[in-house]
Amino acid sequence: MERYEGIGASNGLVLGPALVWYKPSLSVGRRRCELSEVKGELEKLDAALDLTREELKGLRSQLHGHLGEDHARILDAQILLLDDEDLLTATRRAIEKELLTAASAFAQAMGEALVPLHLSQEGLFRERIEDFRDVEQRVLHALRGGADLRPELVKPSIIVASELSPSDTASLDPSLILGFCIDEGGPTSHTAIIARSLGVPCVVNLRHLSHRVQTDDILMVDGTSGQVVVNPEEAVRKRFAQRVKRRRQAEEKLRSLRDMPAVTPDGHRVELAANVELPVEIPLAMRNGADGVGLLRTEYFYFQKGQLPNEEEQLAAYREVLHRTEGKPVIFRVLDVGGDKLLSAMGGYREYNPFLGWRGVRYLLSNPDLLCVQLRALYRASVEGPLKIMIPMVSDVGELRQVKEIAVHCLDQLREEGHPFQEDIEMGIMVETPSAVAMADELARECDFFSIGTNDLTQYIMAVDRTNARVAHLHRPSHPAVLRSIQRTIDAAHDAGIWCGLCGEMGGNPSLAVLLMGMGIDEISTNAAAVPMVKKAIRSVAYSTAQQWVKDTLALSTADEVDHYLKIRAQRGLRDLLLENHEGSSGATGEES
Ligand code: PEP
Ligand code: MG
Repeated sequence: MERYEGIGASNGLVLGPALVWYKPSLSVGRRRCELSEVKGELEKLDAALDLTREELKGLRSQLHGHLGEDHARILDAQILLLDDEDLLTATRRAIEKELLTAASAFAQAMGEALVPLHLSQEGLFRERIEDFRDVEQRVLHALRGGADLRPELVKPSIIVASELSPSDTASLDPSLILGFCIDEGGPTSHTAIIARSLGVPCVVNLRHLSHRVQTDDILMVDGTSGQVVVNPEEAVRKRFAQRVKRRRQAEEKLRSLRDMPAVTPDGHRVELAANVELPVEIPLAMRNGADGVGLLRTEYFYFQKGQLPNEEEQLAAYREVLHRTEGKPVIFRVLDVGGDKLLSAMGGYREYNPFLGWRGVRYLLSNPDLLCVQLRALYRASVEGPLKIMIPMVSDVGELRQVKEIAVHCLDQLREEGHPFQEDIEMGIMVETPSAVAMADELARECDFFSIGTNDLTQYIMAVDRTNARVAHLHRPSHPAVLRSIQRTIDAAHDAGIWCGLCGEMGGNPSLAVLLMGMGIDEISTNAAAVPMVKKAIRSVAYSTAQQWVKDTLALSTADEVDHYLKIRAQRGLRDLLLENHEGSSGATGEES
């Protein structure tokens, strides 16, 4: 029995056989051909490109059938690459001028095309590199007349891989996927997003797991804690199987709350919304009874194709979101790049402290045209359904004023051009910097709502990099310093007569959600899978009780004290939920920590 620790990227527990998806990696040296063979090599190249194009198109339609157009579109970037003029010209030139074989020439041209991506090798760029590599491998295979690269998924299995490209995922039958364990990647990788939309557990960043596991080994996967156990002992396996069963039963029960509001037994109502990264996650949010989308991260639209989407493309995408949310409100956050999310348009710009650098609204204000295109698309989409606009990473009142000026300018333009839009669209800000908390009273006077981003707020208040595993234990939104900042922000919002929500991950924790409710939060937006559990928590504890929890916890000194307090208090009202929650944090073996 071996244990591995990664990053939980999609919640849930699963016990089942592994399917190790090993992708043969073809490498070609600098092989030369004779001058007389050049024509034949050029023909071979064209045939291989045609074959690969057909293969990818086939996978695209398979993906469309399995997961919908959002996921299918992800393959477009790879299909487009096969027609990339620069790439093909470089390959043909290498065949004709350097007398390289088609395979060597293509690999060389690919290597050159990858240089700029390697130079800016961070976050989402790495996924672009995977796209390139995948296309390269497919073309090299086709040039060898090679066999199909698809894994054999013939029974329900947990997919174990070093990394999975969108086209790999496309070839898998989702009804047979029990979960994913991936060596590389982060919670925003394509596989993690697919896992969340399928509702199966996923653990990423498992380093060398795929080399240590064999197909049909039994795995225990905890997508919340990020723990994976390989070939567990019989007793451990049995205990885990019971947990899986209990969790399934609990989920069944929670589903019955779908159409009920998040209201406390003494009548206090909280809006309960879902965070969405990909529109394909919206149906799960609706099925789970979310009141709307409290955070739609629009970065996805920008990263999807590897190029900036124009106004019409964005308009179409936002309209689609509004159709899927069935008339429920959606808060679109304008582009929040920087930090760990880099845009190719940033030109591979590197920073020593990216989280303190060119991020969110700072980036937008230095690219007002980019912001204007997005705002115009959002305003135009507003006639399709209720939407609100949210500004990320605000740290200064002046930033908000500048965005509002740009918004007024965009609205004037739209009016002049005769485009219809909804008047009085609410514009709010993310409160996720300590300066925004300190200035919350001033900011509240100049915007329509707040949404507290505790993922970043915790990072900045505690001075803890949210992506650094070594200090992850210090990234605790239950720290009194964070809780006091939240309370202060909520109070400032209410004093100014605006509403205050929260969209950080902490809102998905039932006892913390109750605490937030006691603080007077108006809306909680969390991942779609957590919505039923949070709803149940709010429906289980009286508002007056939650207010007492707040009074008590705000007087405590450490996160440990707060967590201990909540554990004890929640043992009554939230017993069923917390049983599962605490087991989740005790890891894949289900042993108490
Ligand atoms: C946050 O910071 O809490 C948040 C919701 O935004 P993101 O995680 O996208 O930075
Ligand atoms: Mg944030």
